[in-house]
Amino acid sequence: MRVLENFVGGAWSRASGATHLEVKNPATGESLAEVPLSTAADVDAAVKAAQAAFPGWSATPPVQRARYLFKLREIFDAHRDEIAAICTAEHGKTLAEARNDFGRGIENVEHAAGIPALLMGQGLEDVASRIDCHTIRQPLGVFAAITPFNFPPMVPLWFLPYAIATGNTFVLKPSEQVPLSQQRIFELIEQVGLPPGVVNLVHGGRDVVNAFCAHRDIAGVSFVGSSAVARHVYRSAAEAGKRVQALGGAKNFLVVMPDAERRMTVANVAESIYGCSGQRCLAGSVVVCVGDTYEAVRDGLVRHAKGIVLGDGSKPGVTMGPVISAAHRDRVLSYINQGVAEGATLLLDGRDARVDGYPDGNWVGPTVFDDVRPGMVIATEEIFGPVACLMRANDLDEAIAIANRSEYGNAASIYTSSGRAAREFQHRVGAGMVGVNIGVAAPMAFFPFGGQKGSFFGDLKAHGPTAIDFYTERKIVITRWF
Ligand code: NAD
Repeated sequence: MRVLENFVGGAWSRASGATHLEVKNPATGESLAEVPLSTAADVDAAVKAAQAAFPGWSATPPVQRARYLFKLREIFDAHRDEIAAICTAEHGKTLAEARNDFGRGIENVEHAAGIPALLMGQGLEDVASRIDCHTIRQPLGVFAAITPFNFPPMVPLWFLPYAIATGNTFVLKPSEQVPLSQQRIFELIEQVGLPPGVVNLVHGGRDVVNAFCAHRDIAGVSFVGSSAVARHVYRSAAEAGKRVQALGGAKNFLVVMPDAERRMTVANVAESIYGCSGQRCLAGSVVVCVGDTYEAVRDGLVRHAKGIVLGDGSKPGVTMGPVISAAHRDRVLSYINQGVAEGATLLLDGRDARVDGYPDGNWVGPTVFDDVRPGMVIATEEIFGPVACLMRANDLDEAIAIANRSEYGNAASIYTSSGRAAREFQHRVGAGMVGVNIGVAAPMAFFPFGGQKGSFFGDLKAHGPTAIDFYTERKIVITRWF
């Protein structure tokens, strides 16, 4: 069995911890590798390597740092299919979804390659008589990132390119459930010839996370994952004096107005809910139908869901893969059971889904709940699986009120042909990312990414201009010449 290694100080090395986890293909159940659960000593070694690299790297002119990113972009571009195949094998999503996953990651490398322009400060002559003022941005030191299982190539690339483009050095802990695409991505990064220690990879689980949060030589931590852990990371890393951005879980509401374009809307709602088997932080979960639109949306959604082809994401024709693990399948199934117990009507039941020839896959079929009411567990908690909850509202005000009751605030969408309704919705809904006739409102690399309320802890969101703020200290210089 292949045992994964950490990448520390420009070389691959075995983790010091003796414990390993099996990485499995969630469609076939096949063992792919063993991932080490690294220890605080492994984290310390990576941080020391990153610290040693910092003086030289931060003094490297931004134009030269950008050239490494140009090279990285070309190498990544040449390996799109290979990384997508690895992602599908470890995660289960379809190859098309995996290609988009890596593609969105590469766009962050492209954006960060513009670092000479992004890093500029501001200046003003004569802030007082014959006195000038300007700002410069400086890197802070070593940054760490902790990432979730659901976008294995992309989410680490929300952080790594900006951290190093701004002159910091970097340590990544990918999800222990899907470490293989990052393993390969770091092999590709190795080909770029960055100075040793600028980027480091430490595999593991919660011990690595807690060691990051406590380490006195880490300047800042980025986290993406569930809200419970996001809250923990935000508290403990801030307590240790670090910058923190912690992106948490989600419960996303899709509001369909009576004037929405029906056919496109239903197809888009279905893609939002069932794409990536519902394992997206931007996935639609509760569909709130306003006025007389309910029956048409319900029937259309069930029709779409029945047309989904469940199976091994690496096979042509498959449109929805498994969920990540047997434990996660059980969690999703227990939510479906709970929905039934709470009195919602199950229109389409994915609990007994099977795929011929794949007895060991973690299958959950597309599921649709009718008659869901505010306050039910399935309407409030994050399920993170292919489950749609349908609700009614009399008007837009009621629909917004339903969405705003949620303790989460990652994303929300409205489907309408009314500019007035769309404007009202974007203004009042309590979510960080808003879609208008778009069910997965995923900001591209040059915009910030992040939610509100229980979906985000911190102030500076991922990528876009806020990444440059997160990774730099602004220094203000006031000048007078006698
Ligand atoms: P998770 O919280 O279980 O794990 C995320 C990371 O935290 C992993 O690297 C894991 O090793 C670590 N971790 C897990 N438990 C820990 C603990 N007790 N202490 C310290 N570290 C711990 O999340 P997941 O299941 O990998 O990912 C799915 C979640 O991520 C969903 O809630 C989803 O909404 C969220 N997510 C959010 C965004 C966003 O932009 N807000 C993006 C992607 C995923």
